[in-house]
Amino acid sequence: MPTALITGVGGQDGGYLAERLLADGVEVHALALPGDDVGIDGVHLHTGDVADLDATRASILEVAPDEVYNLAGLSSVARSWDEPGLTARVNGLAAAGLMGAAHDVGARFVQASSAEIFGLPDRSPQDEDTPVRPANPYGAAKAYAHFMVEVYRRRGLHGTSLVLYNHESPRRPAHFVTRKISSGVAAIAAGHAGRISLGNLAARRDWGWAPDYVEAMVLAARATTPRDYVVATGEAHSVEEFAAAAFGCIGIADWSSYVDVDPALIRPVDAPALVGDASRIREELGWQPTVDFGELVRRMVEADRLLLETATPPG
Ligand code: GDP
Repeated sequence: MPTALITGVGGQDGGYLAERLLADGVEVHALALPGDDVGIDGVHLHTGDVADLDATRASILEVAPDEVYNLAGLSSVARSWDEPGLTARVNGLAAAGLMGAAHDVGARFVQASSAEIFGLPDRSPQDEDTPVRPANPYGAAKAYAHFMVEVYRRRGLHGTSLVLYNHESPRRPAHFVTRKISSGVAAIAAGHAGRISLGNLAARRDWGWAPDYVEAMVLAARATTPRDYVVATGEAHSVEEFAAAAFGCIGIADWSSYVDVDPALIRPVDAPALVGDASRIREELGWQPTVDFGELVRRMVEADRLLLETATPPG
């Protein structure tokens, strides 16, 4: 039975990945921050901070996994401007340390990279040949880790950097715009809230279903030859379209009267559109997205409505 080690198991993707691997019979070890609520039975938890390179390396040498999935990281682009140093340590240096350890124990390595490495791309859709030119501290740290995967691959590591486009689910934290909208719409439907404040409504993102992106990670780890891949649906939608679809789920067509645009939420530097061309992973590894935009929005709104129903005592 293979053994896998996941960092960032407390996040959206970490949870889905642990469940996916456990269902397959994989022995799953995870690095989690002290106090992280992982809540998945059967995961062997190792407490520690990935930014502590020596401790992390020691954990990997001890577990000697067959596969290492690096999902740890500060996940907010907006917040990376407030903490550029911490972002570099966690999203950049820690990843490099993990690769070194994975290389030394002969483990396969999957890096959860991000479309943010492309910054403000001048071509659309982006693919594996798009220049890496980040535009924020989050993207720059991810870009360093992305390059280091190639550096270690040349040294013999079975390493893959997956350039993941935005991927969402009911487990997405509420500081991401999709969940902010789905939870806001559910609260409006329940009569708990009146309005939602948003930033740039025109921003376009390629939003996919998070478990599909976790599937790409497993395919990459099991591939015969390691290679970097863009993972995306290939379809971009605006924040405005997301809001319209979410309000549509609760029967509100004239949604604009429920949404305020707060200039404080508009980012000083924001990619107007990120959309990926995933042809390579589709062709080489047989990956494909299983949930389209409308269904993604519907699942998120339904999950948030259910959450409110179960949280609110009847009467
Ligand atoms: P990101 O792409 O990883 O930064 O994911 P987000 O969900 O945080 O942001 C996606 C896009 O939505 C960005 O272009 C944001 O500028 C835009 N956006 C518009 N309004 C909001 C908002 O109220 N909150 C967030 N987080 N993003 C917003």
